[in-house]
Amino acid sequence: MALSITEVCTGCWACIGVCPNQAIHADEPIFAIDPEKCTECVAEFAEAQCAAICPIECAIVDELGAPLNPPGSLTGIPSENWRVEIVRL
Ligand code: SF4
Ligand code: SF4
Repeated sequence: MALSITEVCTGCWACIGVCPNQAIHADEPIFAIDPEKCTECVAEFAEAQCAAICPIECAIVDELGAPLNPPGSLTGIPSENWRVEIVRL
């Protein structure tokens, strides 16, 4: 039972200090969670502390790959309203 950090992690360091089990490593450019240490905070808190502080949607996922902060959950913008713009320099 452990969470994982995905490639959309920006390496902001916010999650490092809040993990009660020192399970998060700064393997830049993205960070990583040690599955041997991560308890999903079940015994310590009501919610996973790394996901609670993470500012990036889909950066932290559960064992099934489901994001704890899914698209739209932090920005309030539903994914169907997303628009990709290509900027030519
Ligand atoms: S879920 Fe909890 S124990 Fe697991 S990495 Fe996140 S903060 Fe640490
Ligand atoms: S808080 Fe989120 S974006 Fe920041 S380092 Fe941790 S996983 Fe990456």
